[in-house]
Amino acid sequence: MSYQVLARKWRPRTFHELVGQDHVRRALVNALDQGRLHHAYLFTGTRGVGKTTLARILAKCLNCTAKGEGDEAVTSTPCGTCEACRAIDEGRFVDLIEVDAASRTKVEDTRELLDNVQYAPTQGRYKVYLIDEVHMLSTHSFNALLKTLEEPPPHVKFLLATTDPQKLPVTVLSRCLQFTLKNMPPERVVEHLTQVLTAERVAFDESALWLLGKAADGSMRDAMSLTDQAIAFGQGEVRHGDVAAMLGTLDHRHVLALLEALAEVDAAQLLAEVASLAEQGPDFAGVLDDLVGVLHRLAVAQMVPAGVSNAHGDREALLALAARFTAEDIQLYYQIGLQGRADMGQAPDPRAALEMTLLRMLAFRPQGVPRPAQTPLPLRAEVAPSQPMNAGNEASPATDIARDNGEAAPTPPSPPAPAAREPEASPQVAAEPPRAAVPAPRPEAATEPASQEPPPWEPYPETMPEALAPEPEVPKPETPEAVPTAEALKPETPEATPAAEMAAPEPPVAAEASAESSVVTPASPVAEAPDAPPAAMAPASPQAPSTSGPLDQADWLNRFESLGLGGLTRNLAAHCVVEGDDGQTLRLRLDPSQSAMNAEVHHQRIQAALAAQGLPRRLVVEVAELPTGVETPQARAERLAAERHAEAVAALKADPRVQQLQETFGARLQESSVTPQTPTS
Ligand SMILES: [Zn+2]
Repeated sequence: MSYQVLARKWRPRTFHELVGQDHVRRALVNALDQGRLHHAYLFTGTRGVGKTTLARILAKCLNCTAKGEGDEAVTSTPCGTCEACRAIDEGRFVDLIEVDAASRTKVEDTRELLDNVQYAPTQGRYKVYLIDEVHMLSTHSFNALLKTLEEPPPHVKFLLATTDPQKLPVTVLSRCLQFTLKNMPPERVVEHLTQVLTAERVAFDESALWLLGKAADGSMRDAMSLTDQAIAFGQGEVRHGDVAAMLGTLDHRHVLALLEALAEVDAAQLLAEVASLAEQGPDFAGVLDDLVGVLHRLAVAQMVPAGVSNAHGDREALLALAARFTAEDIQLYYQIGLQGRADMGQAPDPRAALEMTLLRMLAFRPQGVPRPAQTPLPLRAEVAPSQPMNAGNEASPATDIARDNGEAAPTPPSPPAPAAREPEASPQVAAEPPRAAVPAPRPEAATEPASQEPPPWEPYPETMPEALAPEPEVPKPETPEAVPTAEALKPETPEATPAAEMAAPEPPVAAEASAESSVVTPASPVAEAPDAPPAAMAPASPQAPSTSGPLDQADWLNRFESLGLGGLTRNLAAHCVVEGDDGQTLRLRLDPSQSAMNAEVHHQRIQAALAAQGLPRRLVVEVAELPTGVETPQARAERLAAERHAEAVAALKADPRVQQLQETFGARLQESSVTPQTPTS
C-alpha cells in the first residue's frame, strides 16, 4: 500500500474533525441544520488553515445521501460512507467543481465555467463550485461571475477561497457570506500533531513538536508536511535535535541559557554561551530576536503568570526564570535587545554586536556591575553647590573598603558636586533585591574605617575626599544623619566620623546588621559597587517596620539624607522640623527665615520621596518659629561639621610631629585651613 502523506491522510472529513475554526464551524452547522444556506461563501485565511477542507466538508454535507435523496436530507454530519461522501473524499465527485483561479484567470475560462452553471447536477443534490485563490481572477472574469453570483440557480453553491480578500472587488464581497479562518496557534498545532503521531505510532519529543508548530507559522497543512519531512529525516521518529537540524532553527535552550547567565549577572558565562552558540554558526540576529521574544514572555510571566503561552513547551522554565529578574530588568533588557537588534546591521560583526548587546544589558542593569557613580536624578542636579563636605566624608571609608575587596568602582566623589551622594544611594541600595551573584561585603572590612583609619593628614589612598575635614567656611548642609551613631562609635579621628555617619542615616540597617551596615549605608558613590547591594538587602526587609509607625523628629533627621532630595526642595526640607505625624498627614514646621522657598512643588517632591520610602503622607508645611532645642537637618549638619572640624584640629594639635614643628620652628596651626584629604582619583 502506497504511503499517504499525513496532510492528506489526516485531512478532516467532517466538521467534527476540523481543528480550530470553531466560529466558522458553528455558523455553518447551524445554517445546515436549519436549512438556511447562503448560495455563496467566501473563506479567507492564510494557506493551510483549512479553506478547501472546509469547502469539501460543506460539499459533502450538501450531497450526503445517508438520510435520503431529497433536499431535506442535507446534514451537518455527513456519513462519509455513502457514494457521494466517498466520491468527494476521493476527489472524483463530478458535481464538486474545483477551480484554481490562479491558473484560470482569463475571462474565457470563467465563461466556460459559468456556461455549465445552469445545468442541473449530474450525480448529487447540489453543484458546488469551489474557486480557490479567487483573488487571482481578472477583472473581466469577476464581471462575468457577478451576475451568476448574485442569483445562481437553486441547485448551485459557490465556495470561494482566498488568502487575499483585499484584492476582491467589493461587488463580489458583498454577494458572499464571508468567513475568516484563523491561523493555527502553535498550541493547536502541537495538540493536533500529538494526536496524529500517537495514532500513527511515531515516537516523538514534545519539544520537537513545538519547533514544528512554530515553523508551520499558522498553517496546519505546513505543520503536517513538515512532520512528514521530520519523520523521514529522523528515520521514523520525531526528535528535537533532528527537527532543529532540519528546520535550521536555533535550539531554543541556548536562549534560555543566555537568560540564565543574565539572571546570574555572570558576564563570563554569557560570553561562554555566545561562544558555544557561535560554533553552530547561527543567525545572530535570530538569536537576539528569540531573546527579545523570550523577554516579552518573561514580562508576561511576571505580571500575569497564567497568561504565559507554552509556545516553546518551556512554560515552567520561564516561570522559574521570571522570578529571578525584577520587572525593571526585564523591561530594560527588552529595550536594549530591540535597540541592539536595530543596530546590528551597522555592526561590523554580528557576533560582536550580540555580545555587546548582552553586555550592555548587564552594564546598564540597575545596581549591576561596578559603576563609578550613580547618575544624579534630574531633581538632584540642581543641588550641586550645597554639600561638598559630606560627600567627601562619607565616600572615603566605603570606597576604601570596596577597593580592598577588589570590587570598588573608582568613584571620584567630586566633592563640589555632592549631588551624586547618598541621597540616591542609600534609598536605592536598601530597596534593591538581593543579587545572589554579588559577593557580600565582609563584615570585618566594615569595621576598619572606624578603627584603623590614619589620621586625617596622612594621605588617604585614593579615596579621601578633599572635603573631609570640616571647613568652617563651607556650608555643611547635609550632615544631619551623623549625630546618633557618631557618638556611639566614639570616633577617634575625624575620619572615623564619616563611617559612623553612614550607619546613622538608616537606623534599621544599623540595628539589624551592625557590621555590614556601616559599610553599606555610607551609600555615597561607592554604595553602588557590586558588593554593596547584598549587604543592604538584608537590612531591607527589617527596615519595613520602621516605616510603618509615625515619623518623629529623630526619624526625620535620620531619614533626611536617604530621601534623596535635591536642590531647593532639599534646602526647604533641611530647614524643617517635624511638628507631628499621624501616619497620614505629616506636619513640618519651616524656619521663617526660609519661608520664601515654601512652594507646593517642593512639598510634592518631599511627599514623593517619603512615599518611595514606604511613608505615604500628605505634607503640611507651616511657617513658624522653630522650637528651641530642636535641630533641623541643616542645623544638625552644621553642628556635626563644626564638631568634626574641632576634632580634626585637636587631633592635629595633639600630634607629636606637629608639636615638634611648633616647638622647633615656632610654627602656628591655622585652624581654618584644616581640610580633609581628598581621594586622589
Ligand atoms: Zn454520506
